[in-house]
Amino acid sequence: MSPIIKIENVKKFYKQSHALNGVNLTMNEGDEYLIRGASGSGKSTLLYLLGGLDRPTEGQVIVNQKNLVELSDEELAVYRNRYIGFVFQFHFLLPSMNCLNNLLLPARLAGLSSEETLEVQERVLGLAKTLGVTQCLEKFPFELSGGEQQRINIIRALSLKPKLLLCDEPTGNLDSENSKKVIQLLRTLSAEFKSTLVVVTHDPVIAESFSNQILMKDGMIVRA
Ligand code: ADP
Ligand code: MG
Repeated sequence: MSPIIKIENVKKFYKQSHALNGVNLTMNEGDEYLIRGASGSGKSTLLYLLGGLDRPTEGQVIVNQKNLVELSDEELAVYRNRYIGFVFQFHFLLPSMNCLNNLLLPARLAGLSSEETLEVQERVLGLAKTLGVTQCLEKFPFELSGGEQQRINIIRALSLKPKLLLCDEPTGNLDSENSKKVIQLLRTLSAEFKSTLVVVTHDPVIAESFSNQILMKDGMIVRA
């Protein structure tokens, strides 16, 4: 396996805190990784830097041989759209669009050809069927339960077959049975799309099942 991610001596400082304090990390293409650590240990910050949502104060973030530090804001936006799928605890579905339009938004932003758009449409409809949310597609996000919204969110994150699927406490507001289902789904789908999966969770049962575990403390990786 070749490394898809290389993080070198990454630091992220805010006025009041050192969120990341010299992180070095390699991740292999197609593998799955779990990040654990107490609240405030820097897990989300690390995910945001990987996803190009923020920039490090120091150090290099190299994804798929691109050094994110050297990209312009416009290039970072393209990177996020084409390479990254995000799943957060709280859903960022747009309230003014029905779920199908929410799901097709990344494809529209990517400016795909009509043939590629059709392919995405078929993938999204297929996933909706697999995840049991076909009946939600014409509805608006507020008409859905938390679990349904999270499944729509997952489908949107996967719609463009991202190289990297970043999940920040994706089961934070679900009960344990639904949490297990969601994690299983993320693993199955990322394996199918050959995406590298990175999950942040507090749930010890979920954590146990991952072979690659990264433990963070005070902005550093204490075990990888
Ligand atoms: P975790 O996800 O592990 O709970 P975070 O990465 O969210 O940790 O935060 C790490 C540290 O950085 C915390 O002390 C947090 O308060 C601080 N932090 C995170 N984001 C910001 C921000 N936007 N402004 C100031 N401090 C921040
Ligand atoms: Mg966090």
